[in-house]
Amino acid sequence: MRIIMLGAPGAGKGTQAKKIAAKYGIPHISTGDIFRANIKEGTELGKKAKTYMDQGLLVPDELVVDLVVDRLQQEDAQKGYVLDGFPRTIPQAESLDEALKKVNSKIDYAIDVDVPDENIINRMSGRRACVKCGATYHLMYAPTKVEGICDACGDKLILRDDDKPETVKKRLNVYHEQTQPLIDYYTSAKVLKRVDGTQDMEDVFRAIVAILGE
Ligand SMILES: [Zn+2]
Repeated sequence: MRIIMLGAPGAGKGTQAKKIAAKYGIPHISTGDIFRANIKEGTELGKKAKTYMDQGLLVPDELVVDLVVDRLQQEDAQKGYVLDGFPRTIPQAESLDEALKKVNSKIDYAIDVDVPDENIINRMSGRRACVKCGATYHLMYAPTKVEGICDACGDKLILRDDDKPETVKKRLNVYHEQTQPLIDYYTSAKVLKRVDGTQDMEDVFRAIVAILGE
């Protein structure tokens, strides 16, 4: 069961990826985790990646793919895996497919957790944060006892720049530009599965399980 997760920032794909990993006993693999692990262990690939990151440069596709493929070959990933946050671009998707083909493997499912932009913007704009203690809340899903006041420390809450509608919209535009080609790519590979991400988290997961099987 080799799975790729697609979905906009704020669509909840990370949460679903974790639930899939737990249910099916396969690792949840994110590129961030792979980078951190390789840098910590001081592997050759990790050292290479670090030279780019230290200069504030993007790690080139080729190296990212090498890191991911290396991770996918480890023991715990032999029964399958959930890839979260990779691939992000067509060249990455193609390189991944090529690398997998060499070891007689392929992606079985690309699951798109679909949430309309308007819903994501609404979700994000309901977030509130405390600058003083770092606690986070949500007007609808995790409200404070007194509106606008942090439960933990009593300080005033703010809407962070990152959660403001105009910032979220920009991020979503970048996402769509990058991801639409991927959706087309996995559609033609006949592995794309779309689930309605506007439902309750548990219902989204039920829809995914219906696709993957019990
Ligand atoms: Zn606080």
